[in-house]
Amino acid sequence: MEDYLPRVEVRVIDDEKGKGLFALRKFNPGDVIFEERPLVCAQFLWNQAYGYLACDYCMRPLETAEENVRRLTGIPDLHLPYPECCNTKKDDYIECSYCEVSYCNVHCREQAWEQYHQVLCTSSYLGNTQHPLDQLQNAWREMHYPPETASIMLIARMIATVKQAKDKAGAAHLFSQFCHKTRNGDIAHKLLGRHFQNQIEHLRQLMIKGLQDEDLLQWFTIDGFRSLIALVGTNGQGIGTSAFGVWVKNCDALDLAQDEKEKLNSFIHDLYKKIENETGPFLNNEGSGLYPLQSACNHSCVPNAEATFPYNNFTLVMEAIKEILPGEEIIVCYLDECHRNRSRHSRIKLLRENYLFTCACLKCESQIPDADTTSESDGDQ
Ligand SMILES: [Zn+2]
Ligand SMILES: [Zn+2]
Ligand SMILES: [Zn+2]
Repeated sequence: MEDYLPRVEVRVIDDEKGKGLFALRKFNPGDVIFEERPLVCAQFLWNQAYGYLACDYCMRPLETAEENVRRLTGIPDLHLPYPECCNTKKDDYIECSYCEVSYCNVHCREQAWEQYHQVLCTSSYLGNTQHPLDQLQNAWREMHYPPETASIMLIARMIATVKQAKDKAGAAHLFSQFCHKTRNGDIAHKLLGRHFQNQIEHLRQLMIKGLQDEDLLQWFTIDGFRSLIALVGTNGQGIGTSAFGVWVKNCDALDLAQDEKEKLNSFIHDLYKKIENETGPFLNNEGSGLYPLQSACNHSCVPNAEATFPYNNFTLVMEAIKEILPGEEIIVCYLDECHRNRSRHSRIKLLRENYLFTCACLKCESQIPDADTTSESDGDQ
């Protein structure tokens, strides 16, 4: 019964902080606070170009764990034991009927077609140059090298979603809820480097050529387009999926004899070392998505919740990592693992540059006395 009641609520805090997400009941560490799908998501373009195969709709891996680890280690005949620990269902794979985009199953193909792929499918293009949307992707790749933090295709999918919607105004309104963090178009070149200023116009022209829409003119103006870039830059939540990662997790849960367990663990440990040597830190299919509830969560350097992807696709599960009482704000950390434990000065600098606010969380407030010391590894003076 309790599960049917709303567990969280978006509230306006004040003009400075904007909105926040608040608990309506108590959560213990490990509890699911909410689960949601993105309005749109997209795999990063370099990730895709390097052969990380994922469903074009839900980002579920399209390789078996063995294929995945062969590619990541560069060892083509590598054999993975315990194949039953791989969750990949290759028999269900299906392509778009018109272009070569792949999906993990027919359901994902239908959802994508219903939502945006009719507009984005490049098969019916009869022009004699490259399709404007392909040009757009090439242009983006040229200006945004790995490690990637956003994709121009999130914007293309937002526009296509609205173009295909029966109620266009309603669909556009769904995306307007994300704009609260986008106070300033200047974040665009912060996200994309110094040369971005010159190239944004090129991107905008390609977007106009590919997707211009009478009812969406506000998104194609110079300011409108910059604010879309800032929107995906500040609200885009990273998504990572991995067939090999799931295989490892399932192996951990196997009921094995002690010596077998140790043998398997050292085999896995060795695989990670091989992957590290061959491909470095790029283990996962990576992309980003726009999640209404998650994006309403404010930042703290001492968060009480964390976004997880337990289904190995785009479904986000927000999990409590501390006890949260009814009425308390759900707060997450926008900084990644390696930046999280840096000095107050460094954290505040990163957050100001990437999310345009000055953190005043409990940790930052308590560290004011030792302010102005940058952690040694930062080198950002
Ligand atoms: Zn899928
Ligand atoms: Zn297609
Ligand atoms: Zn802080």
